[in-house]
Amino acid sequence: MPASLLARSLSIAALAAALLAAPATAAPAVSPGNAAPGSVAWDLVRDLTTDIGPRPAGSEAEARARDWAAERLKALGFANVGIEPFTIRAYRRGTDKAELVGTAAQPLAITALGYSGATPEAGVTAPLVYFATLAALEAAPAGSLKGKIAFIDHAMAPTQDGSGYGPYGNVRRKGPGIAADKGALAVVIRSIGTDHHRNPHTGAISWPKGMKPIPAGAVASADADQVARLSAAGKALTLHLTLTGKIIDGAPSGNVVGELPGRDPSLPPVLVACHLDSWDLGTGAIDDGAGCAIVAAAALEARRQQQPLRTIRVLFAGSEELGGFGGEAYAARHGSEPHALAMESDFGADRVWRVVTNFAPSAAATKAQLVAALAPLGIVAQEGEVEGGTDVGAIIKRQTLPVVDLNQDGTHYFDLHHTPDDTLDKIDPAMLAQNVEAWTRTLEIVANAPQPIAASPAPAH
Ligand code: ZN
Ligand code: ZN
Repeated sequence: MPASLLARSLSIAALAAALLAAPATAAPAVSPGNAAPGSVAWDLVRDLTTDIGPRPAGSEAEARARDWAAERLKALGFANVGIEPFTIRAYRRGTDKAELVGTAAQPLAITALGYSGATPEAGVTAPLVYFATLAALEAAPAGSLKGKIAFIDHAMAPTQDGSGYGPYGNVRRKGPGIAADKGALAVVIRSIGTDHHRNPHTGAISWPKGMKPIPAGAVASADADQVARLSAAGKALTLHLTLTGKIIDGAPSGNVVGELPGRDPSLPPVLVACHLDSWDLGTGAIDDGAGCAIVAAAALEARRQQQPLRTIRVLFAGSEELGGFGGEAYAARHGSEPHALAMESDFGADRVWRVVTNFAPSAAATKAQLVAALAPLGIVAQEGEVEGGTDVGAIIKRQTLPVVDLNQDGTHYFDLHHTPDDTLDKIDPAMLAQNVEAWTRTLEIVANAPQPIAASPAPAH
């Protein structure tokens, strides 16, 4: 065993011994710092996921979450706290059921996707046609799926940067529209996820404009494996599918904003965002209760030593999950107010491992300061395109804002994402604390930068 590994295992053994020796009520030996139970970040995500629980976009629970968030931000000392309402097209879940009938008859673990069309209460029964990839579905002849249910498979794998979600996510976002266009009466996909629990992952569909939604669901990975094996064996499959959720127009939603005023309130604010809504299957702890906890706790922590030069504005956006309604509403309402910079936390609660900015060369000194402040937390700087996030995307685009991406480790994010497993117990307080610390250091620098930070022009797509 190399010396470094030996030393590491010895220190882990020492730590374990210390933990064993400690009385049951003692605090853990590893200090969770700013995210320990009793800290602002932990208490925020605990109370949001416990007292409100699931908060689907446009639901009554999301409205309760807005009231809760506004009260909590005021109690924490935020000023100018307000709820900014808007309405959305919402999706309300009904009964979700699927079973293979005839050959290899068996139930499948399924969830409806957001904006799915509805089957009759009694469900539909039709041949299931397997496509190994989205490209294979795209290559199917026009009209060839008439009277059939399309099944779309894929091979998303876990990655630290979560880069599989872009391309494979299209199986969910665009696959249903492509299947409907070829005449399918319904569509089922392998969940967009990387776990092997028997949990289906939900998420929104993006239907082409004017297309009538067809019933669309996602099955758990293990069930998708069954379908793939049966299909490879040449079995003719028939699916009985019941998805009775409803699309609802004009559902109430809204954003919650609050500010920690800077020393010079005439300067544009630094915007930090998360989203308050969640899917209904879990309690939205990692997506995105953790994000709201991180940005609010870090904003408060960043003014602990000294009131920052610039105002820090938090945005708890509504209705992100169904298509970024909150971010659009924020940009429509605040688009004429200048902003200093925008950031978002919406990728779980695992440790920040990378920082990426789009700062112009004139802001090189601020960037160097940032990189140096984050390095001791194990965060590497990389060049590349910034993402910002759905809730700040519209305002960033409109104003060509500077952005700091604090990328979290996404290796396990898509094990939990949009599943019943997205619950508080999946958050490691020590990792949450590392996030708060990274965000605090970042805000201390960008909110106090002596000169405005200029953004490099966005690369052309
Ligand atoms: Zn999210
Ligand atoms: Zn999400």
